[in-house]
Amino acid sequence: MILILLGPPGVGKGTQAAALAGATDSLTHLSTGEMLRDEVARGTELGMNAKAIIDRGDLVPDDIMVAMVAGRIDSRDPGETLMLDGFPRTLPQAQALAEKAPGGAIRLAVYFAAPDSVLTDRLLNRGRVDDTREIIEHRLALYRQTTEPLIAFYRDQGLLREIQADRPISSIQEEFADVVRSAFQNL
Ligand code: AMP
Repeated sequence: MILILLGPPGVGKGTQAAALAGATDSLTHLSTGEMLRDEVARGTELGMNAKAIIDRGDLVPDDIMVAMVAGRIDSRDPGETLMLDGFPRTLPQAQALAEKAPGGAIRLAVYFAAPDSVLTDRLLNRGRVDDTREIIEHRLALYRQTTEPLIAFYRDQGLLREIQADRPISSIQEEFADVVRSAFQNL
């Protein structure tokens, strides 16, 4: 089974995903941003190619991202649910995922929503290499243009649930756990 997390950079999806995965045995948190940063840290060829793209806030090409996630989907355990954080980010990625995981394997897409002003403040406080004001604005613009259409893509398939993420972390956490557990009754 697959659970997709959607939402702009800085909305707190990673934090929420880590908390829920930590509390749920059969749920694995898969952050493509973390996977890429790990490739960069290990100095792999993929990491070296991706570093400049990540540092300027652009998107790594779809074929690379699809291959990375497809490998992980293929190697998942039968009872394991993968929680995708940061993927898909483009319509071609979403279409490739739909082909890779057919027949209702994608159970739910949770969309975390928050206003831009909140996102920018959170990202500036986080202080990652790609979290300067200029690059944050670029990532948010790219998100609106390229990733936001996925909200309608999943809504049209009846898979979308929206959570207001401009609230105390503990309230979001509770709602997120409820939404996920009602869609995945085996968790
Ligand atoms: P994140 O940790 O999700 O904010 O991702 C950090 C960076 O990794 C992004 O700004 C992109 O450069 C890259 N990245 C992560 N996931 C993807 C993806 N699905 N498609 C393209 N680029 C990605």
